[in-house]
Amino acid sequence: MSLLAVNNLKVQFTTHDGVVTAVDDLTFSLSEGETLGIVGESGSGKSQMAFSLMGLLAKNGKVSGSAEFEGQNILNLPASALNKIRAEKIAMIFQDPMTCLNPYMKIGKQLMEVLILHKNMTKQEAKAESIRLLDAVKIPEAKKRFDMYPHEFSGGMRQRVMIAMALLCSPKLLIADEPTTALDVTVQAQIITLLQELKKEFNTAIIMITHDLGVVAGLCDKVMVMYAGRTMEYGSVQDVFHKPTHPYTKGLLASIPDLEFDQAELQTIPGNPPNLLSLPKGCPFQERCQYAVDLCRAEKPALTTFNQYQQRACHLTEEAVA
Ligand code: SF4
Ligand code: MG
Repeated sequence: MSLLAVNNLKVQFTTHDGVVTAVDDLTFSLSEGETLGIVGESGSGKSQMAFSLMGLLAKNGKVSGSAEFEGQNILNLPASALNKIRAEKIAMIFQDPMTCLNPYMKIGKQLMEVLILHKNMTKQEAKAESIRLLDAVKIPEAKKRFDMYPHEFSGGMRQRVMIAMALLCSPKLLIADEPTTALDVTVQAQIITLLQELKKEFNTAIIMITHDLGVVAGLCDKVMVMYAGRTMEYGSVQDVFHKPTHPYTKGLLASIPDLEFDQAELQTIPGNPPNLLSLPKGCPFQERCQYAVDLCRAEKPALTTFNQYQQRACHLTEEAVA
């Protein structure tokens, strides 16, 4: 059984200008200890997908489909049940750790509070465990840092603290939304190494939301490429990165400088993602796709599954866009 099985997930927002479909018909699954990368440009629905799983959608948001976590549909759960799952089984880290840290409380105390509340630890136990976790996420001089405030930490260290906090309850699933975007390249690399180690040590499944394909290559087993709220391509990182079958994936891969495979010439995808309020009829990628034909402007390509679980949404065959 999958740890997480998402089926036909849809997220819509009612706005003054109409209904926006931010996430449309996503289907994917994740086993224990597995890592899924979700990539796409901003506005592709990556974060809203994560928020919908965590029950964190804005008030005008509506979700449909299903997301079974350990066999239980967690969409539309009552707040109390969802809070319990969020505290004990699914953790989330964000781009800006300061949004989740209390600036007026010492780091150690913030960690201890979670353990005392959710793990019924005594103060002494909680302190020892907090220091152990700060150590595990490679905070130098963890004992001393335990008594410091968030502003006394660097951006990279704060993100490590967030990871420590996310791991406090040994979650089965960690959802990381652009956790390295605000950090410089060296620190980014350290955080990714840290996540790799933690994945090994705790067997935590990870959903890594990022626009950085290098991060996906270094960390993930599977990848989902999203565009305008929909899946364009989904499969193992190995398959998708070495043999992309969708024009958008090809465009993304051609626009990054630093992956291991052959790179004739660096290209960017011309144009911008479409406005979700006025999506074109047919394929959402048509205006930027060099292969687009009449059919692409008339009909939405269906998402088809092949090789057991790989998916692609394109009217043309793999060969035609090769
Ligand atoms: Fe391009 Fe058409 Fe495929 Fe869309 S369906 S990605 S427009 S070829
Ligand atoms: Mg986002």
